[in-house]
Amino acid sequence: MKITLSAIKADIGSIAGHTQPSAAVLKTVRDFIFREKGNKIIDAYVGHCGDDIHILMTHTHGENNEQIHGLAWNAFQEGTKMAKAEGLYGAGQDLLKDAFTGNVHGMGPGYAEMTFEERESEPFIMFAADKTGPGAYNFMFYKMFCDESFTPGLILSPAVKKGFMYTVMDVNYTEGDKVVELSVPEERLDLATLLRDENRFVVEGVCSREGEHVLKNSTSRLHNIAGKYVGKDDPIALVRAQKNFPATEELCAPFRIAPFVTGDARGSHIMALMPVTLNSPASSDMCNPIVCAAGFSMKNGKLTGPVDLFADPMWDAIRKKAQKKSIFMREQGWFGAAMATTEELSYTAMRDTLAELDKKFHVRK
Ligand SMILES: [Mg+2]
Repeated sequence: MKITLSAIKADIGSIAGHTQPSAAVLKTVRDFIFREKGNKIIDAYVGHCGDDIHILMTHTHGENNEQIHGLAWNAFQEGTKMAKAEGLYGAGQDLLKDAFTGNVHGMGPGYAEMTFEERESEPFIMFAADKTGPGAYNFMFYKMFCDESFTPGLILSPAVKKGFMYTVMDVNYTEGDKVVELSVPEERLDLATLLRDENRFVVEGVCSREGEHVLKNSTSRLHNIAGKYVGKDDPIALVRAQKNFPATEELCAPFRIAPFVTGDARGSHIMALMPVTLNSPASSDMCNPIVCAAGFSMKNGKLTGPVDLFADPMWDAIRKKAQKKSIFMREQGWFGAAMATTEELSYTAMRDTLAELDKKFHVRK
């Protein structure tokens, strides 16, 4: 049975700043989506990571489908009405266009979609992050399919050892989708060369050698759409697990690194990406970037789960490690590597100040 997974997310308002949606907003979105179970969609799950609500839907309509994207868009619109009624902060902030035009591409919400022939057992993971950018997963996505010390399947399993093909997008290109395909392990070093720059090059997808989709990631750049800063892009990704693909534990293990990523307070700092449990609020300590992992099984499009993959005690130690890394970085305030590059700053005041100061600079005679 050919199934499409659609994970669509948006920040439509939060309590007391950029923290988390209210129970009423979540319920509004969930009720709106669940009403279509057995009609437009087979099954669905609705949750949140920090201030972003994610909607996961299973269906047979394919990707970029008007009915499916329209359903999510309208659910977010309904949720926004509730957020406005409650006076939530940033109500409707990720809904950048007024009229729906067929799909949510370029309209604000981020999304990852994948269509495939369902296996007898179909385990997959949805990763959702908050307070970071589209390339935040780059290092982990590299480790999953290129590094045998994180994915021993690359040397243990004949099927996994065959290798994979990455599609990488240049998200700073605004005239269309500019992508490159790289096969690993052969082009592993070229891939690393691109993925180093998390603000520009983003893993959009990974396929097996047979062309089967294994991973899809959202690649939206909100400021490219709005022309100005409107919030962080907070990526969402879907990854299929087991059999010919890396195992669930291999896909989760790279998040143990808790790498430094751009995002955080005012979308302009560098802190460690902390794995958190499902439906966690954003961190009130400088909006430390967070990521959650929801594991599902699927049969004929029906979901079982989620299992909260970052809830077991091992991840408590990783949370401590991420806290330590972030605190070390925050000790140096705005200095050097602690703040995003000037181009990535989400507010204009610093650039304006630099432009003003440039006028005062003079070359000594
Ligand atoms: Mg967010």
